Amino acid sequence: MITKNKNRLSIFDKSLQELETFCVKNGFKKYNAHQIMRWVYFYRIFDFNKMTNISKPLRNTLTDCFQTDLPEIIKTVHEEDGAGHSRKYLIRFRDNRTIESVLIEYRDRRTLCVSSQIGCKMGCLFCETAGLGFSRNLSSGEILSQILLVNEDIKGGITNVVFMGMGEPLDNITNVEKSVDIMSDNNFLSIAPRKITISTCGIMDKVKIAEKFNCKIAISLNASNDTTRNKLMPINKKFPLKNIVDLINDRKPSIHNKITLEYVLIKDINDNISNAKELEKIFSPSKVKFNLIPLNKGEDSIFLRNFERADDNALSNFKTKLLKAGFTVTTRFSKAQSINGGCGQLTAKTIYSS
Ligand code: SAH
Repeated sequence: MITKNKNRLSIFDKSLQELETFCVKNGFKKYNAHQIMRWVYFYRIFDFNKMTNISKPLRNTLTDCFQTDLPEIIKTVHEEDGAGHSRKYLIRFRDNRTIESVLIEYRDRRTLCVSSQIGCKMGCLFCETAGLGFSRNLSSGEILSQILLVNEDIKGGITNVVFMGMGEPLDNITNVEKSVDIMSDNNFLSIAPRKITISTCGIMDKVKIAEKFNCKIAISLNASNDTTRNKLMPINKKFPLKNIVDLINDRKPSIHNKITLEYVLIKDINDNISNAKELEKIFSPSKVKFNLIPLNKGEDSIFLRNFERADDNALSNFKTKLLKAGFTVTTRFSKAQSINGGCGQLTAKTIYSS
């Protein structure tokens, strides 16, 4: 990483509006901001001197004020299976902290699972990232740079983004929104909002705000009643199940915009057929779809030692029950599991040992 002046701000942390203000304040045109962002995000030109439709004085000002360094990929781990492949990236930022992003390629869809924080505060008992504790939020530029880095590494560019990596996106909602604005802009990264999924453990006051981003929303439900959810997910004490049910039931039914409820199946904790029955009672097939995720557990996991993955039989019965009740149900056998890149397995540490 070449850094001329460490105090210069990262261009990737600027929203279009912020860059417009910068241009005008420095005596340039408001529309210059759009041109600069187009060079950076659409043409992937990070050298201001190569931005040929921009005046020399503006190029000089930009060079003085901003840096365009991307964080560094310090390791990648690759996994092939019959259907496609996945690759886990260990990425290091300027402060030497690391995160992971996971690319999942399937047919012509290239989905990047991005991190929104270094570590996480939410403390979900079955999640390895939670075991790390919380270090800091990622800036909008640090979120976007995960896409920019991977776009340099693959053919065709990222087509879909899921905020399902390290961290709780709605606990960093301002920077997530700022990054979504840029990634979804047709002139910049062109990843349409419907191809972006924000997954939350259920910070329900923030879900209301995030609905306005027009992205897909997924809520990590993981339990069918408050007793179990309180045990697994501390956030449930602040926003009990009723908050999730009410928000969902207040939405208009829609085939294309159903909320996905993610449900990690943990043996003898939440995988009983009675749990599926409880779900059937509180949710409607016209409003939600289920994504069942058998628990991922690294072999050397210390944090998850009290939990086991649900048996195949339990999974199959659970799924059948929900299907019969009319729900759309998908099962996510997390890709990248063998490289510890499956859901809830991102620790930015495991990659060192693989
Ligand atoms: N904080 C956000 C996004 C990160 S977790 C959220 O809670 O949604 C992404 C998904 O992985 C969530 O649905 C979560 O429930 C699931 N997950 C966490 N730990 C897991 C594990 N050990 N095995 C399988 N899925 C897990």
